[in-house]
Amino acid sequence: MVIILKPGADDKAVAAALQGLGLWTQVLGGAGQAGMLSVEPHSAQVGVDQLLLVDGVAEVRQPPSPHPRVDALPSIYTLACRSGAQVTLGGPDPVLIAGPCAVESKEQIFDVAQHVAAAGARMLRGGAFKPRTSPYSFAGEGDAALQWLADAAAANGLGVVTEAMSELHIADVAKFADLIQIGSRNMQNFALLAAAGAQGKPVLLKRGRGATVLDWLMAGEHLMAHGTPYVLFCERGIAGIDPATRNTLDLSAVALLRHVHGLPVVVDPSHGVGRRDLVVPMARAGVAAGAMAVLVEVHPDPAKARSDGAQALSYDQLAELASGMGIAPPVAIRGAAPAYGSRFPEFYKRTVAERRRTLGIQAGLSATARDYLRRGGLDIDLADKMSENVISTFALPLSVALNFRVNGRDHVVPMVTEEPSIVAAASNAARMVRASGGFRGDATASVMTAQVQFDHVQGIDAAAEQLRRRRLEIISAANDAIPRMVARGGGCRDVDVRVLDREMGLLVLHLYVDVGDAMGANVVDTMAEHVAPIVKSWIGGDVGLRILSNLPLRRLVHVECDVTAEMVGGPELADAIARAGRFAEMDPFRASTHNKGIMNGIDAVALALGQDTRALEAGAHAYAGLGRDYRPLSTWTRTETGLHGALEMPFAIGTVGGSTQAHPGVRTAMEIVRVDSSRQLAVVMAAAGLASNLAALRALAGEGIQHGHMRLHARKSQAIELPAKKE
Ligand code: PEP
Ligand code: MN
Repeated sequence: MVIILKPGADDKAVAAALQGLGLWTQVLGGAGQAGMLSVEPHSAQVGVDQLLLVDGVAEVRQPPSPHPRVDALPSIYTLACRSGAQVTLGGPDPVLIAGPCAVESKEQIFDVAQHVAAAGARMLRGGAFKPRTSPYSFAGEGDAALQWLADAAAANGLGVVTEAMSELHIADVAKFADLIQIGSRNMQNFALLAAAGAQGKPVLLKRGRGATVLDWLMAGEHLMAHGTPYVLFCERGIAGIDPATRNTLDLSAVALLRHVHGLPVVVDPSHGVGRRDLVVPMARAGVAAGAMAVLVEVHPDPAKARSDGAQALSYDQLAELASGMGIAPPVAIRGAAPAYGSRFPEFYKRTVAERRRTLGIQAGLSATARDYLRRGGLDIDLADKMSENVISTFALPLSVALNFRVNGRDHVVPMVTEEPSIVAAASNAARMVRASGGFRGDATASVMTAQVQFDHVQGIDAAAEQLRRRRLEIISAANDAIPRMVARGGGCRDVDVRVLDREMGLLVLHLYVDVGDAMGANVVDTMAEHVAPIVKSWIGGDVGLRILSNLPLRRLVHVECDVTAEMVGGPELADAIARAGRFAEMDPFRASTHNKGIMNGIDAVALALGQDTRALEAGAHAYAGLGRDYRPLSTWTRTETGLHGALEMPFAIGTVGGSTQAHPGVRTAMEIVRVDSSRQLAVVMAAAGLASNLAALRALAGEGIQHGHMRLHARKSQAIELPAKKE
């Protein structure tokens, strides 16, 4: 990366300021290079927008990357497995993948699968085709083993990871694997990479024993260039100088991939160290370094394993590893009431009273909620407490969007909106997506951002440095302000220090606070106000604002879906929808309307559930414009069978506190949507956004928006008694 300075800027002063942000620079001295600094590759990752705030910086130039497809890999990805398991990688919890080195028999793999699932692992590994150093060693049971492996995984709700060694069986492996493994020895077998890519399935790419990080990323680019949608990079040890362990598990590379490149990375300590006594500690180190998953070998009787017995864990050791990683053994659905469907055919044809009855019975609504559906509205005394100068209440329709299936579970989605086409459109799109398995998604932990502003700070760089050094003291002072939240498992997780204006002495402290199931505005504001005077006593200056940021970059939701071309109305329409998505990616004028179409669905659910719609809107649009041209929050790409849609945005919502408890309509809507955490609710709401988006694009790319829209509008105006026209 090269930084271009403003004319007359002092390169030393700019370099010092950049160093304050963790960037190491060299002044370029060649012809035509006056006023340029090159940034060393080991520097901290700082956003371009923040660099442009540094005094004297005119422009930031980045060289084109040799692996653009890899760079664009999503930070969260949900694998929809053949067994029905939905495995989210890059979400808040690390994923455990476990199984024997080799699938040795049907009995062996069924036994292992059962223990792997019981420990809380989500995917089963096991080789059917084994690369062996000696041609005389056991080389796997081949095709038969693929079937045993898939059956054992299906019986236990697990995903499947298995290695393809050659183009000869890649198609067979792809048929059974949810993640195709490319082994260490084959990392640069480009013909195999091309063949694996052509399968169009996610790949677990092991790092070659002698491969650099760049070789590894380029191998990922080969896969993606040939069609792999998602690559999970697996660090499994590289050649070191010391035979004391089988390989050298390169945890620097794990940290580099996750924290510098922002890429999906998994650690395989079994092949990394080659001895079982070191597997558990190194797995934990891998997670600490940034691995989003751990892959380990386990065997019913390691001493009798036909390959890699020395590094295989026993079942007890696997359970110990899982609990050390904070993985809970599976429960049916966390604390949830029995599931009910979200499909009520011809619901729209029924009367309002019939709809209430159906929903009340099928959703098992409480008597209070059923009563609310009958009465609606808001008690005037309660209204008087909710706002000021109250003179009456104001009503809007409460509807339900149907057909939603999200992470394998049905949800009836309550919506409040004045706009006639939103509920029907979202239900319709959810029905199309449902045919391909529904929406998949995850949300990060509920980490809000609070900002504390300090002005007129003297010696601002030293002050910033001091705060970075005292990070733990700040976190502990911040937590003192919110003991109840800390007792519930929340609290301040991290801080950031940003120098915004050196001349004015303007420094901003960020506090990153896990607020659990709350929206969290009050919690973080309390914390910011508590921390401000303490920090002022260290660095001086004047305390300015102490308030949350509505761009909570550490509280993101990601949701995606597939839909077949047939479902959306044929291949031409699917093409046209993908082109419409591209249009939004290229043009902020279109992107703003595209995003409005997403917020149509999200705001309607947010209103029904008593959420802060302004906070959601602010976060959405700030995220869309962050550090670049304003972009669509969702993308639609053409796949072989239809379309793939994905949406990512900040999502500050809560299921406890605020009006979620006070308003009886909100409580009823909460009963209807039935979620057990704010993270789950975020995914359902984002799914409503993506559904609205799909419906709008489909109408726009096809018959045009006015056709269906006007029909619904006509119905609305019939209901209104217009004054008779005077002739
Ligand atoms: C394996 O996972 O069993 C294996 C052969 O791994 P690697 O390619 O890392 O040696
Ligand atoms: Mn092995």
